[in-house]
Amino acid sequence: MGTLSGKNAVVTGSTSGIGLAYARAFAAAGANVVINGFGSPEDIEKERAKIESDFGVKAVYSPADMTKPVEIAGMIALGEKSFGSVDILVNNAGIQFVSPIEEFPPEKWDQIIAINLSSAFHAIRAAVPGMKKKGWGRIINTASAHSLVASPFKSAYVSAKHGIAGLTKTVALEVATNKITCNCISPGYVWTPLVEKQIPDTMKARNLTREQVINDVLLDAQPTKEFVTSEQVAALALFLCGDDAAQITGTNLSIDGGWTAE
Ligand code: NAD
Repeated sequence: MGTLSGKNAVVTGSTSGIGLAYARAFAAAGANVVINGFGSPEDIEKERAKIESDFGVKAVYSPADMTKPVEIAGMIALGEKSFGSVDILVNNAGIQFVSPIEEFPPEKWDQIIAINLSSAFHAIRAAVPGMKKKGWGRIINTASAHSLVASPFKSAYVSAKHGIAGLTKTVALEVATNKITCNCISPGYVWTPLVEKQIPDTMKARNLTREQVINDVLLDAQPTKEFVTSEQVAALALFLCGDDAAQITGTNLSIDGGWTAE
C-alpha cells in the first residue's frame, strides 16, 4: 500500500517535464492520476499506459486546454467521474516567452497569464467543492523562483508567477479549516523542454552563445551551479501530500540551488 493509495490526483501540464514527474511520483505512491497537456496522441497514450503498467494504478488523459475555463472545469469533472473524487490538484501547466517588454507581443502576455495563472484559479475553483465535501485535499501550484524575484525579458512569466504566489496564500486561508492545504513550489532552473526552448530567444535578447546562456545566465542564477531535477521537485510535492505536511499551508517552498538566498 502506497502512501497515496485511495487518493486521486489531477496534474495539469503532465505530458512533459516536471508535470510528468509529479504524475509518476503520485502513481508510484498509489494514487490514480489524470494527466493533461499537449503532445502527439501516440506519445501521450504511451506515457498514460506506462503509468498504469509501472505502478498498477489508473491513469486517464484530459486534453483540456488551460486557456479555456470550460475545458478546465471538464478536466476536474473527468477526474471526479473516473475515480469518484479529486483529492490532489497540481496546477503545473506553464509556458515561457522571452522578449524585451517594448517588443513583447500582447497576445503572448495574454496567453501566459491564462496558462500560468488563470488556469490555476479555474481548476481550484472547480476542485474545492469536492475536496470540502470529502474533508481532505491538497492543492499544489508550481510557481518558480520567478514568483519571488525577477529576471529581465520575462515580464509576463514573472507577473504570472508572482500572481500564483498570491493565489496560493489566499486559497490556503479560505480552506484552512477544511483539512485542505494549498502551497506553491518554486523551482529554480530544471532541465526540461521549457528551459531548452528559451535558449535561442535568450541568446538573441542578450547577444550570447548557447553555452554562455547555460553557464552565464541559467546556472549563474544558482549558487550550486547545478540544475534542479524534475524528480526532486516531485519528491517535495509528494511530501506535501502526506500527513506530515498537514500543517504546511500557504507557503512558497523554494527548491532552487540557493538562487533566492542571494
Ligand atoms: P514543459 O514544457 O516540459 O511542460 C509544460 C507542460 O504544460 C506540458 O505538458 C505542456 O503540454 C503543458 N501545456 C502547455 N500549454 C498548455 C495548455 N494551454 N493547456 C494544457 N497544457 C499545456 O515545462 P516544465 O519545465 O516541466 O514546466 C512545468 C511548470 O514548471 C511550469 O509552470 C513552469 O513555469 C514551471 N517551472 C519550470 C522551471 C524550469 O526550469 N523548467 C522552473 C520553475 C518553474
